[in-house]
Amino acid sequence: MVRFNTWILCYICGMSPAKHYDVAVIGGGPAGMMAALRAAERGKSVILLEKNPRVGKKLDITGGGRCNITNAEFDKRLFLKHYGTAEKFLHSPLAQFGVQNTFDFFTERGLPLVVEARKRAFPQTHKAPDVTKALQKYLKEGGIDVRTGTAVREIRTEKGRITEAVCDNATYTADNFLLATGGASHPETGSTGDGFRWLTALGHTVRLPTPSIVPLKVSDVWVKKLAGTTIPNVKITFFSEEKRAFSKTGPILFTHFGLSGPTILNSAKQVGDLLLAGAVTCMIDLFPDVDFSEVDKNILAAVDANKNKQFINVLGEIVPRAVANAVFSLLKMPSTDIKAHSFSKEDRRRLVHLLKALPMTVTGLMGFDRAVVSDGGVILEEVDTRSMRSRIIPNLYLIGDVLHISRPSGGYSLQLCWTTGYVAGNTV
Ligand SMILES: Cc1cc2nc3c(=O)[nH]c(=O)nc-3n(C[C@H](O)[C@H](O)[C@H](O)COP(=O)(O)OP(=O)(O)OC[C@H]3O[C@@H](n4cnc5c(N)ncnc54)[C@H](O)[C@@H]3O)c2cc1C
Repeated sequence: MVRFNTWILCYICGMSPAKHYDVAVIGGGPAGMMAALRAAERGKSVILLEKNPRVGKKLDITGGGRCNITNAEFDKRLFLKHYGTAEKFLHSPLAQFGVQNTFDFFTERGLPLVVEARKRAFPQTHKAPDVTKALQKYLKEGGIDVRTGTAVREIRTEKGRITEAVCDNATYTADNFLLATGGASHPETGSTGDGFRWLTALGHTVRLPTPSIVPLKVSDVWVKKLAGTTIPNVKITFFSEEKRAFSKTGPILFTHFGLSGPTILNSAKQVGDLLLAGAVTCMIDLFPDVDFSEVDKNILAAVDANKNKQFINVLGEIVPRAVANAVFSLLKMPSTDIKAHSFSKEDRRRLVHLLKALPMTVTGLMGFDRAVVSDGGVILEEVDTRSMRSRIIPNLYLIGDVLHISRPSGGYSLQLCWTTGYVAGNTV
């Protein structure tokens, strides 16, 4: 009806009617681009509407600018374990487009992947913008009508179907609409939660986004002095109201607001839950592979070998200098220039305690501006697993970060985009 009215209006005004598309994709992130590419490959006429002046703004900053494009876990069963309660939902989509397909897709497009620690896969060039460029090239070759600088302001429906995407200077009509507007993390990249507002109005259940995979705020002032220091292997144990909650082992990064790095990012969701229950503290074991007496022996050996050196310098050879300074300050020694030979057995015992259990107080999670992903989105019960079609609006498809799926860092988010984008583009 709306289409008919548009034609009549155009006829009266003497204008040629705007083109009607098979598919309109809203959002030019990884999920939207993959969906558009697949739909066009199948011969569909596709328009992609992106509010930024360019597509893939968030994709360009992924993986610290290197883009952790997927995780090279080729065993689907093991791969799925990382998606928590969404494991069952993702079974069918991953059978249609899994990790191997991602490797093949990018390799065939001149962007081979390399695998690093923890099976994280990156483009061989180690440049995230190369991923965007490869996708852009194929959007062009696929004849997709890419409209950048085009913010969708409103979605119109008629008789329970979406009919139009309304932008500032134009209105676009299509048979099917794919919503790929992302979540709410790093809003400066364009993911401002527009999709969540429309979906709620359309009758979908949207879980409120909370920052997930996000650094932690710590109140201890000495932690801030360590900003920029990375420790490759620690064990961090979190406590809720002084009761041990959980531990994780791996690298951490100290920042000017607290703690970050993969181990912390992947603990954030659980820490967020603990914070809802009360006070959260944590302890870092800087030597997780050796016990207390072994650390004590090593320090004693270092002291014996450097008796006349200042103790702080001896400690600086055992742990990074900034950490040595911080730990030493926590010992509250009467003087900073104490010699190694004057360091008592009791001081050494207190030191080992700190090195094995460095205490901190966690005051919160950083906000959306620092979050890798936000975990809100449409609940999966309202989406058909084989097609990504909305169970509420039959010509609407939901992909990427719009879906409520928790996952760790390590390439699992982008694989979700490639998979759900492909499945929707393959169905629509
Ligand atoms: C700093 C950072 C690093 C990350 N690193 C990794 C990594 O290495 N590996 C990994 O797997 N994941 C990573 N992620 C997560 C990953 O980037 C996201 O999961 C992914 O980008 C989601 O893709 P998407 O297509 O669903 O949404 P987005 O990438 O958020 O794209 C949504 C697009 O929709 C557009 N849009 C929104 N509203 C409108 C509107 N009204 N009209 C028109 N367009 C609109 C936005 O401008 C945006 O371009 C990282 C995230 C961040 C923030």
